[in-house]
Amino acid sequence: MGYVKETKRLYCKNCQTNVRAERMKKTPNHILHLLLSIFTAGLWLPVWLLIILNFDTNPLRGFTCSECGSSKLIKQKNIQKFVVKKYEDGTKKLIED
Ligand SMILES: [Zn+2]
Repeated sequence: MGYVKETKRLYCKNCQTNVRAERMKKTPNHILHLLLSIFTAGLWLPVWLLIILNFDTNPLRGFTCSECGSSKLIKQKNIQKFVVKKYEDGTKKLIED
């Protein structure tokens, strides 16, 4: 059984920006699951299937911010990259922040 590093772009409430979030994910021990399935006469198969299908009630579980280490992460936000600047003549222009 091993671990794989999984990365995702998420919004960090601590950094208040979109960050690269990481988590270590366990890879299933298929040999163990195969043995369990044999010993339980197949009763273990649905459990194994759920593990293979990556059944998870909270898909963000275990992710931490690569910048600050915080686990207060939510789905990415569309951060406003441009600010509207109003000129004296009344025209509005988008400029990069
Ligand atoms: Zn952070």
